[in-house]
Amino acid sequence: MPSTKPMPAESQMALADLHTHTYFSDGTESPARVVEMAKAAGLAAIAITDHDNIDAFPVALPIAQQLGIELLVGIEMSASYDGLEVHLLSYGFDRENVVLQKHLSEQKARRVERVHTMVKRLQAVGCQIEAEEVFAIAGAGTVGRPHVARVLLKHGYISRLSEAFSRYIGPDNPGFVPGSPLAPKEVIRVIRAANGIPVLAHPIFLKRDQLIATFVEQGLGGLEVFHSNHPPDAVARYNKLANRLGLLKTGGSDFHGDTKEGLPIGTSAIPYHFVEALKRRSA
Ligand code: AMP
Ligand code: ZN
Ligand code: FE
Ligand code: FE
Repeated sequence: MPSTKPMPAESQMALADLHTHTYFSDGTESPARVVEMAKAAGLAAIAITDHDNIDAFPVALPIAQQLGIELLVGIEMSASYDGLEVHLLSYGFDRENVVLQKHLSEQKARRVERVHTMVKRLQAVGCQIEAEEVFAIAGAGTVGRPHVARVLLKHGYISRLSEAFSRYIGPDNPGFVPGSPLAPKEVIRVIRAANGIPVLAHPIFLKRDQLIATFVEQGLGGLEVFHSNHPPDAVARYNKLANRLGLLKTGGSDFHGDTKEGLPIGTSAIPYHFVEALKRRSA
């Protein structure tokens, strides 16, 4: 029987952006600014998903409460599989969980070590840069490749940040080191231990759809169907795959401020019912 309930107009539908970064990882904006921009974009909810870091949450929460926008607990964690970079988003976990805390502090140390390795490899191919310059740009948060890219830019080895990833620090480049040596299975175990829901981020970058079923066997709970780098055909494909594998669906912009210029917060925002489904599953 057809429903008599009117569909909300597109403009009135509550929307959420579940993938954003702050300067606690490789974004350029503060947690407060991200919340303010999300509010200004008319969003009902956001998650801050910094790389291997959850320090933005307590800073952003009072601002979100003040502005009346829902802030979900989130993170984007690095893993690697078969030489491929795998990013796992996670939502609704216990931030105080000891397994998670231990993982994050180990990952922080690994990322520092990684920068030293990357810088040595880059020096070997003629880039005269120092690890200390990278750490100075990263500040207190998670250090990552975009910070290395900025140092390469500052010294004139590249003319745009994206060039760093095509010539120096992307997969198959001389300075490439994976963000984490851990397999997705191990990172999923950490997220599950903290009662979170692991979600495979931007599957389009993985380019190996057939791996997703394997990750599901290992405890993956969701798929980022909607993402600013997913064209409509990819959204349709991942939507079908999520249905087939019984996965929750999430989405968001992957906002990074000036690190990804021209990508506003709220791009690829999802209807709020996806957030409700996520919260039901984590309850
Ligand atoms: P990391 O976690 O240190 O491996 O850095 C991953 C981050 O690098 C991503 O979240 C993006 O912000 C950035 N990134 C990865 N690939 C590219 C690319 N081709 N162009 C620009 N930024 C990129
Ligand atoms: Zn990033
Ligand atoms: Fe990512
Ligand atoms: Fe991201």
